[in-house]
Amino acid sequence: MVADAVVETPDTTTLVLFTGNDRLEYSAGHFLTIDPHQFEALERFTAFLEDLKGRREPPRAYSMCSAPHERYLAITVKEEQYVSGSTKYPPLLSPLLVKRTIRGMRLVVTGFTGPYTLASDVSSQTDHIVHICAGSGSVPNFSMLKFALEHHPGVRHTFVYSNKTWDDIIFRDALSDLQARHPERLTVIHTLTREPNIGALGPSVRKGRVGVELLREVIPEGSECLVYVCGPGISKWDRDAAKAAGNQPTPRFLESVLADLKDLGVPNSRIKREFYG
Ligand SMILES: Cc1cc2nc3c(=O)[nH]c(=O)nc-3n(C[C@H](O)[C@H](O)[C@H](O)COP(=O)(O)OP(=O)(O)OC[C@H]3O[C@@H](n4cnc5c(N)ncnc54)[C@H](O)[C@@H]3O)c2cc1C
Repeated sequence: MVADAVVETPDTTTLVLFTGNDRLEYSAGHFLTIDPHQFEALERFTAFLEDLKGRREPPRAYSMCSAPHERYLAITVKEEQYVSGSTKYPPLLSPLLVKRTIRGMRLVVTGFTGPYTLASDVSSQTDHIVHICAGSGSVPNFSMLKFALEHHPGVRHTFVYSNKTWDDIIFRDALSDLQARHPERLTVIHTLTREPNIGALGPSVRKGRVGVELLREVIPEGSECLVYVCGPGISKWDRDAAKAAGNQPTPRFLESVLADLKDLGVPNSRIKREFYG
């Protein structure tokens, strides 16, 4: 049952879920899935999209923003947009979860799973985790960050987070509270691509996308850090559309960060990634 729906930004909502009194076994970074077929309000739309796409609509994945040591279970959903002339199909589930889900609503969630988690011996692998996220890609990293700050005291974190504007930053106040509570162990750097008032926001807010210069700053040469990258990447659909047009798909956040990390010489074995198609 949805115990609370917390508006994080104009297009993002955290759904706090009450699941009875069972203890929930999950790892920070895990996701659950939600099948759109369970929502009566979406029935006609789901059937119409299935006719257009010629396949059954699959369940959608949502990472937990809560951490296993916290007393509540929560996911954070960012509404996908339909851009006329560029998006092929309108988004099905995220608009409902973000804008039309209210306290007391019941939903069936399945989980928990996913390989994008912290190893239980992470502190023997590194003393520095670099999180590099964009948009809702911060959700699993926020969970891992909270968990690691609590359970791996020997590890410090740099959280590099890309968004369009200051108002699009999910968990903005929570990240700043964590930084105030752990000044020696957490540095948060925001990068904003379309913020007009960037100069007024201080030195931890940078202009533009995550680029190689910023990554060089947070990952000094010879660093033994672990890097967790999460955000949008080239999907199968982008690849198919590019192929049909005779082009190469344009690199998105994930591909561009991975290319920069390669240029900086960060070994592949030190990079964990999660792709939001
Ligand atoms: C592991 C994982 C964790 C995620 N965690 C989060 C999270 O914490 N928060 C969050 O907001 N989002 C998260 N997402 C994204 C989320 O699962 C949905 O993709 C997103 O909410 C959009 O869903 P939608 O139904 O609104 O949009 P839709 O566009 O209806 O659905 C997106 C789905 O449609 C498919 N699709 C896209 N283009 C086409 C096409 N041209 N033809 C046919 N099918 C297509 C894609 O495979 C994708 O699965 C995560 C994704 C993954 C894989």
